[in-house]
Amino acid sequence: MTAPSRARKLAEPVERLFGGIAGSVCGVRTEAPHVVLTYDDGPEPGGTEGVLAALADVRATATFFVLLTRARRFPGLLADMVSAGHEIALHGVDHRRLTGLSSDEVERRTRAGRAELEDLIGRRVTWFRPPYGTQSPRTWRAVTRDGLVPVLWGPVLRDWQDVPQADRVAGAVRDSRAGSIVLGHDGFAGPADGVEDGPAPAVDRGDLTRRLLGVYGERGLVGRSLGEALTVGRQYRRAWFRR
Ligand SMILES: [Zn+2]
Repeated sequence: MTAPSRARKLAEPVERLFGGIAGSVCGVRTEAPHVVLTYDDGPEPGGTEGVLAALADVRATATFFVLLTRARRFPGLLADMVSAGHEIALHGVDHRRLTGLSSDEVERRTRAGRAELEDLIGRRVTWFRPPYGTQSPRTWRAVTRDGLVPVLWGPVLRDWQDVPQADRVAGAVRDSRAGSIVLGHDGFAGPADGVEDGPAPAVDRGDLTRRLLGVYGERGLVGRSLGEALTVGRQYRRAWFRR
């Protein structure tokens, strides 16, 4: 084991301090073998159904960060998420970066998005994930003023890139431990969501979730929504700002 660098020694207390003042949920401190599964950018026909089936097969639950642009178009898929016992959270009215918008616009969008999503699902929405994980202290304040809690992530599935399925699983598993929040996608945001991120990668999203949960199962880990993981664990917050 190497000694932490001086910069690291300084960074840790600063990170803790800002995590208390302006933190985002980046993990769960837990004794339970829970990995928090999160899916962004859906619902999407052809993606969401496979993910839901793979979760159901092993009785895992997940948190879906949905886009209103999608939820309005695919209310049936949204209802399927809810009825299967998954948690619904807000990813945005669309997929535009909040850091390019005024504070008033950020507050207006997240407030309206939350209210509309709560109407659609008939329950409270607590968690918010900024598109691309981009937020500044300014957008953090605008989002949290409305009572929403930003949730970011730890391990990633790289399911927005064209890489082999086995590499996606291996990378996510390598970085996973109990309490990790894993970033996955059941959809791919595009022009209808206000962004141009190129063509969607070729990925069987149901197969990816099935493989991931298979490896977790071998290691004694189970997939849980954030809300469920927090019934036995507590939030780990730290400052997360990136443009
Ligand atoms: Zn997204």
